[in-house]
Parts: sequence; structure tokens; C-alpha cells
Amino acid sequence: MSAGLRRAVIDLDAYRANLDLVRSWMDPVEVMAIMKADAYGHGLEPIALTAVDAGIRWIGVLTVPAALRLRAIGVGEDVHLFTWQHDPGLDFRDAIDSAVDLGVSNTAELRRIVEAVDQRPARVHLGVDSGLHRDGATAEDWTALVELARDAQRDGRIEVVAAYTHLAESSDADDSEAVAHFDAMVERAEDLGLDIRWEHVAASLAGLERKEFRKDMVRMGANLFGIPGADGVSAADLGLTPVMTVSAAVAKTKRVPVGTGVSYDYTYRTDTETTLALVPIGYADGVPRAAQGRIEVAINDRRYPIAGRVAMDQFLVDVGDDDVRVGDTVTLFGTGEDGESTVLEWGRALDTIGEEIVCRIGSRVQRVHEGHSGEGRVGEYLRGERS
Ligand SMILES: *Cc1c(COP(=O)(O)O)cnc(C)c1O
Repeated sequence: MSAGLRRAVIDLDAYRANLDLVRSWMDPVEVMAIMKADAYGHGLEPIALTAVDAGIRWIGVLTVPAALRLRAIGVGEDVHLFTWQHDPGLDFRDAIDSAVDLGVSNTAELRRIVEAVDQRPARVHLGVDSGLHRDGATAEDWTALVELARDAQRDGRIEVVAAYTHLAESSDADDSEAVAHFDAMVERAEDLGLDIRWEHVAASLAGLERKEFRKDMVRMGANLFGIPGADGVSAADLGLTPVMTVSAAVAKTKRVPVGTGVSYDYTYRTDTETTLALVPIGYADGVPRAAQGRIEVAINDRRYPIAGRVAMDQFLVDVGDDDVRVGDTVTLFGTGEDGESTVLEWGRALDTIGEEIVCRIGSRVQRVHEGHSGEGRVGEYLRGERS
């Protein structure tokens, strides 16, 4: 496969190894692999099929259309697909017919789901607002939601699969208070005559650090992509491997004299005669303009700062007298094993988190899925993608 000017190599073996490791840590608690936002920018279908080949039973994809994409490529109903953000105009019929699990946190939405039921009951997870104030029912709304769900279940129109919440991860004390609130809401549901089969509360960070929050299932996203969230902990510290490596090929080199202004606004000037290398990836591709002065890229095992402004489609690197040639690989971030930066380092250097960096890698950056491609359903899918 041609390298392309800019590419993101997605190492499916690394994803698989991270998944196996995280599942072994959580055992016997179930892991729901979270793959919203096109699997955090890694490509939904290949990541999902890799997880399915690994025996995953639960996948979280945020929206019904994303879940239906997975059903369409053969992810069967033995794999539960959890969705929890719904278009206000969405017709739930396809989701229900395809056994897509629906997170619901208000009575109006639950009524629309119940009305859409035809052949088979809708699978519903009831959401609790435990302090994040995104989705999730408030304590005031919870009783009405539970009563509606209980009655709809009695009528055979829905199956209440689970209760869930999402934590703010603001502090251990805040999270403890949030989980206590969640527990109280589950108890209230049971008092109202609704059995809750599954409870899920924790994502990557709390799943690792707060064993008592694991309940029946943890929803893991970032860890599986090799982007751990705890302060000061690297992926390697945990035995996880970053899954995405972003690189570009040097497009031009140019010898310039001392004092040459580089890129827009001349914020960088050469302090000697030197070589500039043009790297054809820019802020349109997800390299933040703020990366100037904060990020180093790797070319032939050496690290170089970005010289001057990051432009929409490119930036420059001052490589001095080093032997850098057109076509050489410029690694922006990767596993860190060959001295390149990791996405975790990018997040820290740019006052954000690694998740934001990988999610913003743009569509011009070709995703190249490697590893794991010889076997199972993912191999079949990738061969189709390539033929
Ligand atoms: C994104 C998300 C997760 C996964 O979070 P990570 O920190 O990436 O593991 C879990 N649950 C919900 C509701 C989410 O939105």
C-alpha cells in the first residue's frame, strides 16, 4: 500500500493486546469497548471487528447510525451495541429491529422508543445523572422514568437491560458521592418494582483506579487506544501500546541562508545557513497551530522542533546539516519505542488530552490498518477495503 503524503497507521495487534490486557485486569467484570467518534479517530469498522474477533460482547458507539453500520458488516446480535446520544428526530424502529441497545434518560425519549416497538421489545439502559449534568435523569425525573420503563416492560414492549451513569472524574470524593447517588437511584428503581440486571458506571480512569466502581461492567475507551488518563502514568507504565502512529513524508528540502524568516509571520528565523524540510501535514489535518514551540517530530531517529507557524497543509522543520531527504518519514507521534513522541506527550504539551489529538486527526490523513489482518472477520473486511 502506498505511503501517501500523510497517514495514520492503526496497529490492530496493539489494540487487540490492549483489549486482552484490560479484560484480564477487569475479569470477571465485563468490558464494554467504547468506540464513539469513529473509534476515537482510528476507524470504527476495523477496530470493532478486531474486538469482535477477540471475543468482546459489548461495544459502545454513541449513536444508532454507528451501531447500524456495525450490524451491516456482520456484527451479530451476540454482540450488544450500546448507544446513548440520539437525534431528536430519530425513528427508533431500525435500532429496535437490529437489537441495538438504547441509553435513555428522559420519559419523552422513552415514550418515542415504546411507540416504535413492533416485533420485538426494545433493549433499554436507563441513565442516571450523578453529577456530570450531561445526559442522565435527575433525581426528580428518575421516578417517572422508572415507572414508565417498568410498565412498558410489563407490557413486553421493552426490556430494561441496565442502569448506568458517567462520572465527572473531578476528584475521588466527588466520584464517591456520584456513585452513592447512582446506587440510591438503583435502589429506588428496585423498590418501584424494576429489576436492574446490569449496572455500569466507570470508564477508563475509574475502571483502573476505583475497583469498587466496576459493578457489572466498565466502559473502556482511551485505555484500549493506549491513551491512559491518570496523571503522570504513561501507556508503557501500564503495559499498554498507543495504537495510532501519525506520519508524513518529507515533501521538499531547501537550503537557506542565515537569517531566513520561516513560514507565516516569520516567527522563526534561521540562526545559520541550514536546510528546511517541508512536512505536508497541517492544522487541517489535526496538527494544532499551538504545536509550534511545544512539539518535536522525529525524522530518521532524531527529534526536531517545528520551525515557524503550522499552516493549514504543512509546516517546516529546521534540520541543520543533517541528511534529510525527500520521502523520509516524519513521525509526529507513535508508540514512543523509536524515540518519537507519544500522543500522551502531545496532549500534555498542548494543554489537552491525547483523546482530543487522535479524534481531530483529519480525513485527509489516510488510515492504514495493519496487523491482525490475516485472520478472522477483520481480515476479510480489510481485504474488501483494499480490493
Ligand atoms: C467516552 C465515554 C466512555 C469512555 O471513556 P474513556 O475515558 O475514553 O474510557 C465511557 N462512557 C461514556 C458515557 C463515554 O461518553
